[in-house]
Amino acid sequence: MNAERLPTAEDMRAYGARLAARLRPGDLVVLSGPLGAGKTTLVQGIAEGLKVRGPITSPTFVIARVHPSLRQGPPLVHADAYRLGGDLEVDDLDLDASLEESVTVVEWGEGLVEGLSEDRLEIHIDRETGDDARVVTLRGVGARWSGETA
Ligand code: ADP
Ligand code: MG
Repeated sequence: MNAERLPTAEDMRAYGARLAARLRPGDLVVLSGPLGAGKTTLVQGIAEGLKVRGPITSPTFVIARVHPSLRQGPPLVHADAYRLGGDLEVDDLDLDASLEESVTVVEWGEGLVEGLSEDRLEIHIDRETGDDARVVTLRGVGARWSGETA
C-alpha cells in the first residue's frame, strides 16, 4: 500500500509516466475513483511513458482501445468498464492484441476484472476537497506485485 498526493493534472500525467517504467507486457492496472477523479488523465501519463500512439480519450462507443507502441515496447490496451454490468472477459474486449503482450489499463474496473487476471495493480484516486489535488493509492494483488514497492 502506497499513497501519493498529486496537486495538478500535470503531476498526475508525470506520475503515470513514471509508473509506466515499472509496467511489463501482460500487466493489468485497474483504476477506480469517482467521475472526474483523473483516471483518464493518469492513463494519458502511462501512454506517454510507454510511448504509444495517442490520443488517450474516454472510449465512449467502444469498451477498449489498443494504442500501438511507437517503439519496440508493448501496446497499451485502454478499457473503460463503466457501462459494463457483469464481469469483464477478454472476449468482451474484442481486441486485435493479446493481453499477454500488452499493458492493460481498465477504468472503473473494480470488481469487474477478476476474469482478466489474478495479478493486478489496483490504483484508487480520491479528490481532496478545496483544491485540485488528488490522492493516489496503490495496491498490488497477486504474485506479480508481491514485493514490489512504489
Ligand atoms: P476520470 O477519467 O476519472 O473521469 P478525467 O481524467 O477524465 O477523470 O478528468 C479529470 C479532470 O480533472 C481533468 O479535466 C483534469 O485536467 C482535471 N484535474 C485537475 N487537477 C487534477 C489532478 N491533480 N489530477 C488529475 N486530474 C486533475
Ligand atoms: Mg475516464
